[in-house]
Amino acid sequence: MSISDQRLTPAPPLLPEAHPHKHSTQHSMRVAAREPQRKSRNPLLNMPIARRLTLGFLIPALIASIALGTIGFQSVQLLSQESSFYQGLLRTYTSLTTAKNVLQQMDTAVQGTLNDALLPQPSRETLREDLNAVRGFSTRLETLLEKNIQQDVLDRSADLVTLFTQAGHSRQVGEQRFLFNETQRTWQDYRTTQEQVLEEIAAGNAKGAYILEYSHAELNLTYTLGALERLTLFNANLVTSVRDATNVEVNRLVLITSLAGLGVLLGIGMVGWLVSSTLVRRLSGLRSVVQSIEKGQLDARLDTVGRDEVSAVSAGVNAMLDTIINAQVMEKLHRELQSQHEALNIAHEHLNEANARLEALATTDALTELPNHRSLVATLDKELERAQSYYRSCSILFLDIDHFKALNDGYGHASGDTVLHEFARLIRARLRGIDTAGRWGGEEFVAILPEMTREEALAFAEEIRIDVAANLFSVGGGTRLTCSIGVASYPTHASGREELMNAADQAMYAAKRLGRDQVRRIDDPLVQALLLEKNEEGGREESALAGIMAALSRLVEAHDPSIGQHSFKVSELLPVLMQNLGLPAAEAQMIALAGRLHDIGKISIPGTILYKPGRLTEEEWAIIRTHPEIGAEVVSSIPVLRPLAPVIRSHHERWDGQGYPDQLAGKAIPFGARIIAVVNAYTAMTADRPYQKARSQALALEELQRCAGTQFDPQIVEAMERLLLSQQLAELAEIA
Ligand code: GH3
Ligand code: MG
Ligand code: MG
Repeated sequence: MSISDQRLTPAPPLLPEAHPHKHSTQHSMRVAAREPQRKSRNPLLNMPIARRLTLGFLIPALIASIALGTIGFQSVQLLSQESSFYQGLLRTYTSLTTAKNVLQQMDTAVQGTLNDALLPQPSRETLREDLNAVRGFSTRLETLLEKNIQQDVLDRSADLVTLFTQAGHSRQVGEQRFLFNETQRTWQDYRTTQEQVLEEIAAGNAKGAYILEYSHAELNLTYTLGALERLTLFNANLVTSVRDATNVEVNRLVLITSLAGLGVLLGIGMVGWLVSSTLVRRLSGLRSVVQSIEKGQLDARLDTVGRDEVSAVSAGVNAMLDTIINAQVMEKLHRELQSQHEALNIAHEHLNEANARLEALATTDALTELPNHRSLVATLDKELERAQSYYRSCSILFLDIDHFKALNDGYGHASGDTVLHEFARLIRARLRGIDTAGRWGGEEFVAILPEMTREEALAFAEEIRIDVAANLFSVGGGTRLTCSIGVASYPTHASGREELMNAADQAMYAAKRLGRDQVRRIDDPLVQALLLEKNEEGGREESALAGIMAALSRLVEAHDPSIGQHSFKVSELLPVLMQNLGLPAAEAQMIALAGRLHDIGKISIPGTILYKPGRLTEEEWAIIRTHPEIGAEVVSSIPVLRPLAPVIRSHHERWDGQGYPDQLAGKAIPFGARIIAVVNAYTAMTADRPYQKARSQALALEELQRCAGTQFDPQIVEAMERLLLSQQLAELAEIA
């Protein structure tokens, strides 16, 4: 199985001790430090290879040496036993042969003695010599039998008895002992008889000796010789038995040799196993890993169990692989980081673009694509600061399209927008690089002209005016329009932004009053004259307004005193509430006037309906409901009161859109109308009416709170609540 196969399937380890194991394919950073060599439970793996091999070879060598030593020792022992046996056998044989000769010589000597004794005159001397000779033979034979033969009898040698027993010849040991005993016994019998014969001879009884000799002694001699013969024969046969016994020993040695050979083979096998298991297989694991590295697969790892050279190399290979993988991971991380860095740069660029767009949106007027009011203020501040620092001039133009409202009314708001856009384009076309023009608001534009003197500015404004007048605007199939322009310059006409803007605005306003379609500078004598006149006119306008208000109020009162009274109360409470709401004075004044005249439309409603005691019919209600519209119409016909019209028209609208005449809802209802609705209801509830008694302040407030969010603007009801509470507290304080 290849390493790659192993990677795919979790197969059993390639090797028990040195196998490439699976490495995590996750890009986890491996520490490239060398793995420590773990101690193995197999002590062989913990010793150096040379020592392990030495040990491996020593064991079979030891077995072989012991076996050979044993065999050698046993063989030597066997040989010495065999040789000593043969020596013994030879000695016994010689002794037996000698014994037989001596016996026969002794018998001959006895017969000779007997013959000498049978002589008529036996010589004593001869007889004594004969007797001594016989006794000499007897002693010699005795010695032979006692010392030589008996010494070599088997059962006196333990080694031989063991050998014979092992060869199955244990019976022969007893047999030999029996034959020897028989020889001894027959010899003793013969000897005894011969002693008697010799005694008879010595006693001079030669005859008796003769009879004894041939009746007993000769018989005993035959027995003794026979016994010696059998012993000799028996000993001769022992050669075969010894060979058997030797064979047994030889067989045993062969067995030992075989076993020793087997032991050596086993030892060699063991060495082979040792080399294979602790070296070859681990080296082949190493080779597999190296091959897998060649194929570019770096996941395989080697076991580092043991403390020998192979495990040291394995640990080194593992550390090397870890280093390679770490390097790859680092490279990949580096690449990813680079691409992320690039993506970040792109995102940063997009963000910058978006920021630029956002900033442009925040400072640009969407309709005309010119800087907006905020941006104009900032630019003007900057330019004025610069002009102040370097003692330079800076002029501004205040441009206003003439009768633009009429155009809006005639052609619609969208056409008005188109004109605004085209007007902006015309201004922009005239600007120098350092100039800035923007939309101040509505149909009013401002141009900031750094470094431009008042004369230059005047001429520049005139060019724009001519451009506008000459332009055919693309609404209503081509429309001509004019504009009025006011000019003011720093430092001649003003020192600060607001002062400068005000001057340009006044100059523009004067241009309007002087007939429109013209450029006027603030220091123009006509402009100055008009400014003086305006102040007087303002006074005149105010007194005119007061007169109109008084006249109309009187008209309402004359028509219906209760309405007049009610309107008066409303107009009284209104300023207090508006003050509480923190409204600017001008707006508050306008709303107060609207409160005074909010029911003026009722003068057109017939008294029969207005004062009808019973319930009103639906038609009558419809007529009643026309009064806001009629009231608005009335005031809009008087120019100074025109701004009151929307408020009066909407003072019966409801917060939830269920009112009349336009079903406006929430903040779509003019603010003044929402305030008048609350004060109107409160005033009505707290006054006596033909059909209903006056409610207490608390009940009236409760009713207002109940209808907050449906009929009334809840914030205004809250303000009303605060107002009444503070009034009550003031009253309490007064009483106290
Ligand atoms: P004058 O000659 O005195 O300047 O008369 P005018 O009608 O131009 O001046 P007035 O201030 O009475 O009217 C300005 C009008 O401009 C009122 C408003 O409806 C209109 N207007 C303001 N902003 C826009 C806008 O963004 N688009 C359109 N179409 N009209 C606008
Ligand atoms: Mg205007
Ligand atoms: Mg205008």
